[in-house]
Amino acid sequence: MEKMPEWFNKPIPRSGQFRESEVILSSLKLHTICDSGNCPNRVDCVPHDMAFLLMGNHCTRACTFCSVNHHNPEPLDPDEPMKMVEVAKRLSLTYMFLTSVTRDDLPDGGASHYAETINLLHENVPSINVEVLIPDFKGDINALKTVIDASPCVLGHNIETVPRLYREMRPQASYLRSLDVLRNAKKLNGKMLTKSGIMLGLGETKEEVIETMQDIKDAGCDMFTLGQYLQPEAGAHDVVRYVTPEEFEEYLYIGQDMGFHGVASFPLMRSSFKAEYFYAETMKSISSSNNQSKTI
Ligand code: SF4
Repeated sequence: MEKMPEWFNKPIPRSGQFRESEVILSSLKLHTICDSGNCPNRVDCVPHDMAFLLMGNHCTRACTFCSVNHHNPEPLDPDEPMKMVEVAKRLSLTYMFLTSVTRDDLPDGGASHYAETINLLHENVPSINVEVLIPDFKGDINALKTVIDASPCVLGHNIETVPRLYREMRPQASYLRSLDVLRNAKKLNGKMLTKSGIMLGLGETKEEVIETMQDIKDAGCDMFTLGQYLQPEAGAHDVVRYVTPEEFEEYLYIGQDMGFHGVASFPLMRSSFKAEYFYAETMKSISSSNNQSKTI
């Protein structure tokens, strides 16, 4: 395997705030994908821009790029939605990014747990915006509607990779079903922003990346992210190639030309990275393009 380029070298966070957030999370028995996924961006994100993990730390699928435990999903914690309110208050969050493991063992895939959490956050922290990054709920449109009816400001669902690599990377998922999640979300609420992303460095070609970006745009997606895949632990899928920052920049321009309202593309980009800032910038871009079309 190639040596990891130096642009991934980031310090391990050790500040007082980092330790404080660790104590809060462990006292409430909450997880973040920042820790569970060994994300290299923690120094930039903890404690105010973290991505919180709902429904435990054990996933029912076995994607080969992921280090989350793939066995024995835990029983749902009925207090978890209120614990998310507690952590939002204790960390004075103005924006909360929620994601989850995939829970194919639950009848609605956990959609009502998402909805309850979003509703409680809106009720108890009135100024907060909540973004969700959801699994595909096995294509269940009622489950999708349950989450959307709770009014997240952004609904994300990651396509993760190009269709040719699905069997190898996401054996229990389907490329077309994931595109349908994005398409159906827009049909259910055309005003809510949708977001998706893919990882590079898994063996995809440039043509495949551009075709996938176009598919995602055609599904009505507003915001798009590209980042370098990093092997989260030994045994996970190998990094096939480190894509250069210049190539990422090229995809940024391609995405902008395709008409995404927001595109972020650089090696350390993750769908949850600086989500509040990315949301605000996308809203500005939409508002300025609306003003321009009014002027024209
Ligand atoms: S990029 Fe996302 S997963 Fe990584 S530390 Fe930031 S919020 Fe957490």
